Amino acid sequence: MSNETKQHGEKFKGLHSYRITVLLVDDQAMIAEAVRRCLEDAEDIDFHYCSDPTKAVKMATELRPTLILQDLVMPEVDGLMMVRFFRANPVTSQVPIIVLSTKEEPEIKSQAFATGANDYIVKLPDKIELIARIRYHSQAYIYQKQRDEAFKALQESQQRLAAANKILQELSSLDGLTGIPNRRRFDEILSQEWQRAMRHSSSLSLVMLDIDFFKLFNDTYGHQQGDDCLKQVASCLEKSLARETDFIARYGGEEFAAILPETGVKGALKIAETMRKNVQELKIPHEKSKVIKYVTISLGVATAVPERDSKPDSLVLTADQSLYYAKEKGRNQVCPLS
Ligand code: GH3
Ligand code: MG
Ligand code: MG
Repeated sequence: MSNETKQHGEKFKGLHSYRITVLLVDDQAMIAEAVRRCLEDAEDIDFHYCSDPTKAVKMATELRPTLILQDLVMPEVDGLMMVRFFRANPVTSQVPIIVLSTKEEPEIKSQAFATGANDYIVKLPDKIELIARIRYHSQAYIYQKQRDEAFKALQESQQRLAAANKILQELSSLDGLTGIPNRRRFDEILSQEWQRAMRHSSSLSLVMLDIDFFKLFNDTYGHQQGDDCLKQVASCLEKSLARETDFIARYGGEEFAAILPETGVKGALKIAETMRKNVQELKIPHEKSKVIKYVTISLGVATAVPERDSKPDSLVLTADQSLYYAKEKGRNQVCPLS
């Protein structure tokens, strides 16, 4: 193996290194002995012998040789028939086969190649020539096998990479504490839905909401409890959405935002009121709250039919202003009121 191939191979962990393994199929033990002697000094070549052609395919399947030497004339089975058997067997279909014959006849040679043999040698061949041909064909086969393995390993690692990227992509869209989409994802979805609503001239609604007196909650129960509260509220808000296309994100701190496509003012106010009620019904104790003794939220709603070439910023601003009024008016309520 060349240095270049070695280095290339090392990049793919688990790539096999193969030894040259020869299987001779010949009924004459004398020929086997002669071939064995020819190859005994070649330390890179393992030699195996099968005298019974009916057992040759099974033996080759188990041995997985890198080269088959196939006798052409045998008492029970024709050598070319053996070549066909080897080609039909998935394990040996690509293994190089050298046909060994006593005759130097172009017609038979041509037939052997047409049947699927890779080479043709008149026996008994010269030792140097036999070794050279065995090495040449075996190495070509080994390189091909290693290329196939490297390609498969590359494909598998590309698939793993794609799967990891997908998970990363999903994780980078989610808020670490609550597990619901984050601000980044909110901006993406809002932009997409704004464009879609623009194309269809449909209503798009936004609900901005914020936990009431949450600073006091943290001061009373500690930051850890505050985190638990945020998780419960996030999950409750998610469950309060009506449609598959409705979307909720943690906008930042104790503020959340919902995008409601194809939803007018009335529908949006209804969803917002459901959210308010559901959070209150969680009955998360909040003794110091100036509203009631449970955690509550204030919500601002805004609706628009996006105009051509406009941006969603104004919708966010309006929803934010509505949220401010809800706080002003005493919290635990939706603004504008329906
Ligand atoms: P208001 O009713 O006017 O909204 O009052 P508030 O106290 O809720 O509002 P303020 O903006 O004064 O305080 C927000 C608090 O939310 C302060 C901050 O420590 C807390 N907070 C923001 N993010 C987190 C978080 O991830 N975990 C916890 N535990 N607290 C958070
Ligand atoms: Mg707050
Ligand atoms: Mg706030």
